[in-house]
Amino acid sequence: MALNDPRHLYPKISPPRQTQKDPGLDQKLEPQADIGLDSYVGRGRLEGRKALITGGDSGIGSAVAVAYAREGADVAISYLPEEQADADRVIAAIEEAGRKALALPGDLCDLEQCQHIVAKTVEEFGGLDILVNNASRQLWHDGLENIPEDDFDRVMKSNIYSSFRVTKAALAHLEPGSSIIFTSSIQAYDPSDTLLDYAMTKAAMNNLAKGLAQQLAPEGIRVNSVIPGPIWTPLQPSHGQPQEKIESFGQNTPLGRAGQPAELAGAYVFLASDEASYVVGESLSVTGGKLAP
Ligand code: NAD
Ligand code: MG
Repeated sequence: MALNDPRHLYPKISPPRQTQKDPGLDQKLEPQADIGLDSYVGRGRLEGRKALITGGDSGIGSAVAVAYAREGADVAISYLPEEQADADRVIAAIEEAGRKALALPGDLCDLEQCQHIVAKTVEEFGGLDILVNNASRQLWHDGLENIPEDDFDRVMKSNIYSSFRVTKAALAHLEPGSSIIFTSSIQAYDPSDTLLDYAMTKAAMNNLAKGLAQQLAPEGIRVNSVIPGPIWTPLQPSHGQPQEKIESFGQNTPLGRAGQPAELAGAYVFLASDEASYVVGESLSVTGGKLAP
């Protein structure tokens, strides 16, 4: 088999200046992100599993949804109502893979919505064995003093509260062999001065994964997290980064380019599958070489 150079396997992008209202849409990204629609090949590694992915409409979550369905899982995705167009594409891809899809629009800042997405998934699929806490909000600000109180509140609720509440609602349904995965970030280890509130939520999610792993391993449930580096998704141009950082986004990694959502899918499939049976409380970096110490 021919060798593929990871520096060039995906394009080195220099996105034009662009801005979207948050949450951004994959459909409006320039250039388009690669969520694996044309490339991901399943090998039956999650046959018959039932997965719920928050923020599964776009970016990393959408690549994981496509991969999970092609690996044989039924997949529910939660997202904000204004992201319906992105969600429709992912739902279609899950169904094309021959699996059941479930669309769960709604705001995870609300406790009831966190409980609803779990209850509905269990009702429609007859259970839940993979939970991916991936939804998050990221807005940059120039210093702590410029983070408005209501922005701070919404970031905490979208990232930390939602992960905590969705997981709490899921616990009663998870049987031995189930897996919970949190999407943390390189920001949990190496925070940017423009992302102080966001970075602290990513550290909290990583910490919750490690603590919960200790609680649930004796019950046969594995908990882990993924640590993405700079990945080209709608989070970035919808006030996730200052404009000047968009144009060279990800080029300061050792691989010299931003990652694509498709490059994350393998990590999430691995952590959910029996191949990771002895992997518990791990933070798996997919960062293009940026070190998460
Ligand atoms: P994305 O915008 O495609 O995905 C984030 C999703 O979060 C949105 O699609 C939205 O559906 C969901 N969301 C946010 N607030 C919500 C709320 N209140 N209620 C319901 N859903 C809500 O961007 P992405 O980059 O793929 O982000 C996915 C995860 O990856 C996030 O946890 C993010 O922190 C993490 N991450 C991304 C990067 C990166 O460079 N893109 C790096 C490290 C970590
Ligand atoms: Mg989205």
